[in-house]
Amino acid sequence: MDVVYFDNNATTKVSEEVFSEMKPYFSELYGNPSSIHTFGGEVSHKVQEARQRIADLLGCEASEILFTGCGTESDNMAIDGVLASQAKRRKIITSRVEHPAVLQVCRELEKHGCHLVEIGVDRKGRLDMEQLEEELDEETAIVSIMYANNETGVIFPVERIAELTRKVGAVFHTDGVQAVGKIPLNLRESKIDLLSLSGHKLHAAKGVGVLYIRKGTRLKPFILGGHQEGGRRAGTENVAGIIGLGKAAELAKEKMEDENARVRGLRDKLEKAILGSCPDSWVNGDVENRLGNTSNISFEYIEGEAILLMLDKYGICASSGSACASGSLEPSHVLRAMGIPFTAAHGSIRFSLSRYNTEQEVDFTIEKLPGIVKKLRELSPFVGKK
Ligand code: PLP
Repeated sequence: MDVVYFDNNATTKVSEEVFSEMKPYFSELYGNPSSIHTFGGEVSHKVQEARQRIADLLGCEASEILFTGCGTESDNMAIDGVLASQAKRRKIITSRVEHPAVLQVCRELEKHGCHLVEIGVDRKGRLDMEQLEEELDEETAIVSIMYANNETGVIFPVERIAELTRKVGAVFHTDGVQAVGKIPLNLRESKIDLLSLSGHKLHAAKGVGVLYIRKGTRLKPFILGGHQEGGRRAGTENVAGIIGLGKAAELAKEKMEDENARVRGLRDKLEKAILGSCPDSWVNGDVENRLGNTSNISFEYIEGEAILLMLDKYGICASSGSACASGSLEPSHVLRAMGIPFTAAHGSIRFSLSRYNTEQEVDFTIEKLPGIVKKLRELSPFVGKK
């Protein structure tokens, strides 16, 4: 069965170009980049080239790029590392709609004496900027607000938040895992101090991430051991993963403008057709200000999981809530923070597209989904009971 993959916010396909650039580093070019000999030195040179390619995508210096094992590690390192690098400030400000990679580390630090503030969002998933401004003070060590939300695609005003954060002398971190490769960045012109990204969200492999660390930002090393990554993150590098991520960054930069416009067009077509053919359905999140690849739609009276299972029969992959939260019947913490009613949060589906999706796939889904929704509603005990 052909797969129609609309779950790109969960993970993406490794592109052919990325894979072929990675391959030699599993076989003939297996040297350790830390070795003195020429064989290892060549690998080290390729790792540096990848660092430069990622810096070019982010608009920063290669020396500000730190390789990690995933987006989660980058988030953990940023928040933990800032708190551990100084003893005076103990306040952490984040939002209620962050990925667990941020929320869990903040909540753990709260158990160890930090003062945690989770800023709320409105019904459209927009951050309460008034609350944020009220909370920012001289006690604040770090503000961590995501660039774009993984479930709704809503984009946050991170540049403005970075400016406000700097005014109180705190560090600003953004989880850019869903934004990098979809939103053009120029960190040289920005006040963002730390930014996390993850390889597998932009057509590179799983098991590699990056933490951008603005020069001069104080951050305690997260993994201790050897001298890799300038002593800031020990452990022999995931060489093939890093080289692949470098290529993925180069491709993202090259293709971003054209492909984003095409993907947005496909997403809009899909969304419009679904809303037009399925009564009692609507889009969650600020439709004016979200990622062009994401559509989070609520279908009243029915379970998102039931829709997913029926889509799956046709090979259509989507997600209900975030992939990390699926497996439990708890509605997503993001939709709950937005105040989406329980019944609608339960019936929400996230479609997330990539440059590998086609118009035929969109048409196929438009053809199948209305029938699925109709059938499930006929079986639903909730229809007409509201
Ligand atoms: N942050 C966001 C916004 C994400 O969407 C994800 C993954 O879904 C992560 C962090 C975690 O990234 P990784 O899977 O590389 O650990």
